[in-house]
Parts: sequence; C-alpha cells; structure tokens
Amino acid sequence: MQKRKYIDAETKVVALFGHPVKHSFSPLMQNSAFAHLGLNYIYVAFNILPGNLDPAINAVRVLNLKGVNITIPYKKEVLPLLDRLDGFAELTGAVNTIINQDGQLYGYNTDGPGFIRSLEVECAFNVRNKNVMLVGAGGAAMAIGMQLALSGASSIGVVNRNQEKALTLANKIQSVAGVDVKILTWPRERLPVLDSELVNYFKNAELIVNCTPLGMHGISGQLPPLPYNLVSPGQLAYDLVYNPGKTRFMQKFIQGGAKAVNGLEMLLYQGALAFELWSGCKAPVEVMRSALLKVLK
Ligand code: NAP
Repeated sequence: MQKRKYIDAETKVVALFGHPVKHSFSPLMQNSAFAHLGLNYIYVAFNILPGNLDPAINAVRVLNLKGVNITIPYKKEVLPLLDRLDGFAELTGAVNTIINQDGQLYGYNTDGPGFIRSLEVECAFNVRNKNVMLVGAGGAAMAIGMQLALSGASSIGVVNRNQEKALTLANKIQSVAGVDVKILTWPRERLPVLDSELVNYFKNAELIVNCTPLGMHGISGQLPPLPYNLVSPGQLAYDLVYNPGKTRFMQKFIQGGAKAVNGLEMLLYQGALAFELWSGCKAPVEVMRSALLKVLK
C-alpha cells in the first residue's frame, strides 16, 4: 500500500461530479479517511455544467482518475457513458460511484447498500419481514426501496406528492423483487385529511423513511403529511435529511416514544462503501463520522 506524505506524481485522484457541488461534505469525509490510513489519494469536487457530463467522463479515462462519485443531477444520465454496471446500479438505473480499472469504467450504486448497512450497524435493525413506509419516490427512494425489497422487507408502502412517480417506482420494485408495494395517497393541499389506507399502513409500519427534502435547512417549516399522533414506541423513523441534525420529522417520532435517526448515517455508509471500492481498504467509519460531525451539529 502506498503511504502518502504529500501530494506527488503518484497521488491517485478521486472526484465528485455534480451540479452544484459546493455544499458537498464528501471531500471532507473522504479526505479524512485517506489521510487517516495514510493512503496516497486525494478527493476533489468538480461542478460539471449541464451538457458537460460526456467530456467529464471521458476525462476520467484521459486523466486516469481512480474513481468518481456522481451526484445530482447526473446519477441516471451517466449510465450509458460507462463500460459496465454492477447489478444493483442496473436495477435502480442510477450510479453514484465509478471505479476506473485501466480505462474501463465500472458503475455502482452504494446508496441502497449504504442505507441498509447503516440500519444494521447503527440501529441494530434487520429489515427482513418488516413493513416499511417510504415518503417520496425520487432517486433515493428508488435505491432504498429496491434494496429493502431485495433484503426481505415484507411490504413497502409509498406515499409521494406525484402519484405517477409512486406508481413507476412501485412497478419497478415489484417486478424485480416480487414484494408487495402499496401506493398510498398524499393528501391534497386544500383537504388536509389523511386517507384511511395511509393511516392504517402507518400504524403497522415498523420503519418509516423520509426520502424527500421536506424539513431540510431552508425549508424546515415543512413536514411530510403523516398521522404523527399514532406513532408507537416500536417504530424507527429514518430521515434522509441531516441538516438540521434533529429534524421536525424525527422530533415527531421521538415525542411518540419511537427511535429516530437522520441521514448522516446513510451519507456515511454510502461513502464508506465507495471508499472501499476505490481503495480496497476497510473504511475508517468513525474517522469519517467525526469529520462530518465537526461541520454538521
Ligand atoms: P429527487 O430524485 O429529486 O426526489 C425528490 C423527492 O422529494 C420526490 O419524491 C419529490 O416528490 C419529493 N419532494 C420534493 N420537494 C417536495 C415538496 N415540496 N413537497 C413534497 N414532496 C417533495 O431527490 P432524491 O435524490 O431522491 O433525494 C431526496 C432527498 O434525500 C433529498 O433531500 C436529498 O438530499 C436526500 N438524500 C440524502 C442522502 C443521504 O445520504 N443522507 C442520499 C440521497 C438523497 P415529487 O415526485 O412529487 O416531485
């Protein structure tokens, strides 16, 4: 293993491609891990303007970058530009991690596996035979729902503002994993009454995941429309939002006696899996977590 004393001609470069990228915590998290293990790697972020993804991916080969993280809005668009896809990336139709092996680019999606690993390691929660409710039907919900289905969840309820998108997600997960996926109705703005099917599903859900930005710093007044008065102590709430650290969604569950975690865990474990793919070394998860916690209170 090469030990890094300083950046030199042998330094391996790993990059983040997205638009925008300036708020990303990945450079901090990944560089702290490389430095801790003394690996001669560096992680840098590139703001790739719309229309420039193709030349940027070509530059990975030309400049011999070791790997890349792909973030919003390119996780789907990047697929046809790669040489091979890992099975889970193919199933979800999204890539967040690339490895460059001698000019061949391999695409992975560590979002789903990272989410499950964080549940197992940090929450001691096994999804097998569990009823799960997903709020949202975007890219993160697709990765999480697909992984939950493959990991043996017994049923998945999806509630999303745009019902068409919920239907697309449900069909895709159902066709791959054969799990029962139920579409629940998002309440209309002028009619803030929750659908009885949604209420019943919520009561039986053991894991409820917020896969929307509702509650994120800046739009923190908003809350996914759920019957929070029915929260029970056996439930686990998982908010993909991590800024603020204790979201209103989490607080509602904690008030009802349930457990709640924020999206720092998923950020951490999807990053740890990407680190392991690039470096072949076990990720120093606690070092990465403390780097994140220094900036995310
Ligand atoms: P995305 O593909 O753009 O999907 C966004 C989802 O949020 C859609 O379901 C959308 O509903 C819903 N949504 C957005 N604004 C809304 C609003 N005002 N009211 C109701 N629903 C709204 O994004 P994504 O990649 O899935 O990411 C979703 C969230 O997860 C983001 O906050 C992202 O930062 C976070 N995330 C965190 C991690 C982590 O590691 N912690 C990883 C990935 C994503 P419609 O379909 O109705 O538009």
